[in-house]
Amino acid sequence: MILLLTVAAAICGAQTPNPDSKFGPSNPFYAPSTLPFQTAPFDKIKDSDYQPAIDAGMAQQLAEIELIANNPAPPTFDNTFVALERSGQLFNRAWNAFNLVSQANTDPELEKVQDYEAPRTAALADAIDLNPKLFARIKAIYDRRATLGLDAESLRLVEYDYQQFVKAGANLSDSDKEKLKKLNEEESTLENTFMTKLLNATTAASFSTTDPKALDGLSEGQIAAAAEEAKAHKQQGWMLPLLNTTQQPDLTFLKDHATREKIFENSWNRAEHGDANDTRSTVARLAQLRAEKAALLGYPNYAAWTLTDQMAQTPEAAIHFLDALVPATTAKAASEAKEIQALSDFPSGESAPDPADWEFYAEQVRKAKYDYDESQVKPYFELNNVLEKGVFYAAHELYGLTFKERKDIPVWQPDVRVFEVDDADGTPLALWSCDYFKRDNKNGGAWEDSLVGQSKLLGTLPVVYNVANFEKPAPGQPALLSFDDVTTMFHEFGHGLHAMFANTKYPSLSGTSVPRDFVEFPSQFNEHWASYPAVFANYAKHYKTGDPMPADLAAKIVKAKTFNQGYDFTELLAASELDLEWHTLKASAPLQDPDVFEQEALKRTHLSVSYVPPRYRSSYFLHIWQEGYQAGYYAYTWSEMLDDEAFQWFADHGGMTRANGDRFRRMVLSRGNTEDLEKMYDTWLGRKPSIKPLLKNRGLEDAGK
Ligand SMILES: [Zn+2]
Repeated sequence: MILLLTVAAAICGAQTPNPDSKFGPSNPFYAPSTLPFQTAPFDKIKDSDYQPAIDAGMAQQLAEIELIANNPAPPTFDNTFVALERSGQLFNRAWNAFNLVSQANTDPELEKVQDYEAPRTAALADAIDLNPKLFARIKAIYDRRATLGLDAESLRLVEYDYQQFVKAGANLSDSDKEKLKKLNEEESTLENTFMTKLLNATTAASFSTTDPKALDGLSEGQIAAAAEEAKAHKQQGWMLPLLNTTQQPDLTFLKDHATREKIFENSWNRAEHGDANDTRSTVARLAQLRAEKAALLGYPNYAAWTLTDQMAQTPEAAIHFLDALVPATTAKAASEAKEIQALSDFPSGESAPDPADWEFYAEQVRKAKYDYDESQVKPYFELNNVLEKGVFYAAHELYGLTFKERKDIPVWQPDVRVFEVDDADGTPLALWSCDYFKRDNKNGGAWEDSLVGQSKLLGTLPVVYNVANFEKPAPGQPALLSFDDVTTMFHEFGHGLHAMFANTKYPSLSGTSVPRDFVEFPSQFNEHWASYPAVFANYAKHYKTGDPMPADLAAKIVKAKTFNQGYDFTELLAASELDLEWHTLKASAPLQDPDVFEQEALKRTHLSVSYVPPRYRSSYFLHIWQEGYQAGYYAYTWSEMLDDEAFQWFADHGGMTRANGDRFRRMVLSRGNTEDLEKMYDTWLGRKPSIKPLLKNRGLEDAGK
């Protein structure tokens, strides 16, 4: 028990914001919920209940871990792996509900709890991952796993857990563990330094002007927002802040060439001014340090280490995949450059547009070839129609699911709707909620997550939710969506299906607990049904008249998806390759000059295209230097290959049928991370995936020929 106190003390350093709070039976998280599907009792939970429940949950989980680690009985699969899977139930109960409200419906009290708990949850994870006695038991079982007669899922759990511990350095000698700890500390300091510098640099690189002519082309709303921005910074005139990408959306509209040039140059050089906010030395050291870390852990480079538990498994596989996409994509970008010259009022005599002008002239091409009027389209995308006759309809046709709205289940906010999802034979499968409308106290974007994860071991069925930020209509008015919003609904519901179809024993292998290069596959796959003719015709009906959308308008929506894809995908591939170039450096490589490195990396990967800069430059590539996407930016595109190929398989096998849906559910969607994912996918498909459907979907298939 002494050990437990030491560990507990390590995560109790900070002052608790609510020191008098007690945890007892009156706390709604104290016992498992008695509501259907054990969903959280939001009618009883007060803000002040979260923190004591989370703290008690952490203490309980640490005690459980210590019992497992110090068990005098010899290690067995049951007393180690299964016991670990059973641990932390109070913590998960409280944390899952807190995670929901702190992102979708927060307030100052919840924000305080979040600040307080964030480092403590990280320490909890460390206390488990770095527990040497626990690892010794795991290793003992791992070493003789072949002789234990384990079923396939249990064997996967042993291999997965062992891999996670080893990845974190559990197999290192004590002195190497110390070295790793120092490198981890330096890495985290550098990541924070990068973030701080970049934030300052980005703010300083905002475009400011007192000349209204410079803003010619922006809408009244955009100009008013720019005036507000200037006011907030105590400046005269107008101010346009930078987004984190190289290209800035305002460049689409700004008519003044000099303004465009200035904004682009502000963006491109934002963190390269040789001042205190220059990130280049930080980036160079981060790349070097990560290579050193990988070498210490026994890998040739950082990507090789971090991809071991991904579907791609090796950087070579990811790079080979990206390389194959480059020729068709850059050829398409070149043909788009020609199109700009032919179809826009781009000055004749000049060669390709420079990056600062691309979006402006491309917009003219879009208007000439791909335009449709949002206000014409929206009356055909009424939210309830899209949900019930689109999203639910596709799930019914493919998987036999039915949906019953449950008004008796407590919700975290009055706009939230809850549905019970039943299987084809009427068996309850899951609870699914949607929280679709924008609120000031909600994070931006859209996401899916679970309040309760599926597990046969714990006897739990999934409680899943989707959150989005659609415009809320005035009372009594219908919610009319854009096609982007429609696609978002199908996307998040696709994640939801992955979670709801989960049919696994162990919670840590269940549902959406899959690697990054696989996790977007089920969601992006589900997007395809939004424009599948039989589904589209079923939901895209005028909310007043019930008339189907005119065919020419529907065709325009589909066609618009291929606009500017050569450019957009070249940008994305350049950033993806740049990420892998940085993270396949050897530990022995000298400290790099980021500008030189970047130029050479783009040349090496045939992505040095004068009119298409990478989506992020090394000096402001936040995803890979601070947000945890290092050696993982390729994952979006990898998942896209999987989903486009999967949809093509459906198209080749009779389309939207129950037989196809059930097979996909049985072999993929229900399997979580219980199998090697490459094997799972290839077995389902009948071969390895190719990049052809991806190129076709992006309208790139004939390019480069
Ligand atoms: Zn997603």
